[in-house]
Amino acid sequence: MTDRTPLMAGNWKMNLDHMQAAHLVQKLDWTLRDAKHDHAAVEVVVVPPYTDLRSVQTLVDGDKLALRYGAQDLSQHDSGAYTGEISGAFLARLGCTYVVVGHSERREHHGESDEVVAAKAAAAYRHGLTPVVCVGEGLEVRQAGEHVAHVVEQVRGSLAGLSEEQLATVVVAYEPVWAIGTGEVATPEDAQEVCAAIREELAQIASPEVADAVRVLYGGSVKSGNVAAIMAGADVDGALVGGASLDAEEFAAICRYQ
Ligand code: PEP
Repeated sequence: MTDRTPLMAGNWKMNLDHMQAAHLVQKLDWTLRDAKHDHAAVEVVVVPPYTDLRSVQTLVDGDKLALRYGAQDLSQHDSGAYTGEISGAFLARLGCTYVVVGHSERREHHGESDEVVAAKAAAAYRHGLTPVVCVGEGLEVRQAGEHVAHVVEQVRGSLAGLSEEQLATVVVAYEPVWAIGTGEVATPEDAQEVCAAIREELAQIASPEVADAVRVLYGGSVKSGNVAAIMAGADVDGALVGGASLDAEEFAAICRYQ
């Protein structure tokens, strides 16, 4: 089996101004340094709002921080008459490594379909960014016991058109909608079940080698107190963390989950 480097990504959503963002990045860096965090062993990523990215870039470049960062979304287009949209080219120039696509809040509030998500993932690759492609079922689907089929379908649609080479580096985040921001975390068994199904689907659409290399994250009310149990799942390679990533000490504790 490939050694997959665990990835802990903090999605700040629409929170913090650029001063608060700079403070959080600095505090996270100090806290991780104090804990002698090995960034090669567990990759740490922050995902601020677009308007904080320049501040984060200045700190990361200026102080040579080992943290990586990314954006919460991007346009499926590269440039042109798309008022209000942000091109992957802009994000690449701001030093982003990752970009989240298809977060359930984008799917729900902006009507993003799997097709749009796939177009955004392709746009990310055109600009050298790694997409973190989010999938996850709502409560009704879970209660109907159709969550695995639903998520597998989303994976197929949201990764459609990517080459095998691209699929080998994609990050997939399984985020059950009923667990996001609710305090209701999936059980470790629930998280493992769906992450394993995602990996099996990757083996079908690409190859077993690609499936083995891809990092599959869990997201939904992850905290320092529940992360170790979730990370124990053989197919869970990290976490996409919302609320808890706004507190430097809590997010640092999540990053050193062992
Ligand atoms: C998220 O925003 O992707 C998320 C998982 O949020 P929370 O950790 O707050 O549930």
